[in-house]
Amino acid sequence: MHELGITRNVVAIVSEAARGRRVSRVTLEVGKLAGVMPDAIAFCFDTVAKGTPIEGAHLEIREIEGRCRCRTCGLEFSTPALFTPCPCGSQNLERLSGEELNIKSMQLEEAA
Ligand SMILES: [Zn+2]
Repeated sequence: MHELGITRNVVAIVSEAARGRRVSRVTLEVGKLAGVMPDAIAFCFDTVAKGTPIEGAHLEIREIEGRCRCRTCGLEFSTPALFTPCPCGSQNLERLSGEELNIKSMQLEEAA
C-alpha cells in the first residue's frame, strides 16, 4: 500500500526532528489531488509509530482542496479530481493546490 510507505516516511522524518523527545501531535497537510487516502494514513499511523518517539501521538490530517486555473479562459475553480476540465471545456489547466503532502507541524511533549 502506497500510504504505508508515506506514513513510514512521515514517522521517520518526525522522529529525527524530535531528537529523542516525545511527540504529542503531528499535523499533515494532504491535498485532495495528491492521490493519497488520509484514512489509510491514519490507519497505518499507530502501527508504524509503535516503538518510536511518536507512539501515541495524535495525528491530525488537514485536507487541502484542489484548485486549478484555466489557461484558456482564466477561470479559477475548485476541482474534486485530477483531469476535470474547466467549465469552458478546456483541459489546459494550471494546478494551484491540492497536490500537497506536507508535514505541517509537530508538537513535542513538555519535559516532565
Ligand atoms: Zn476555462
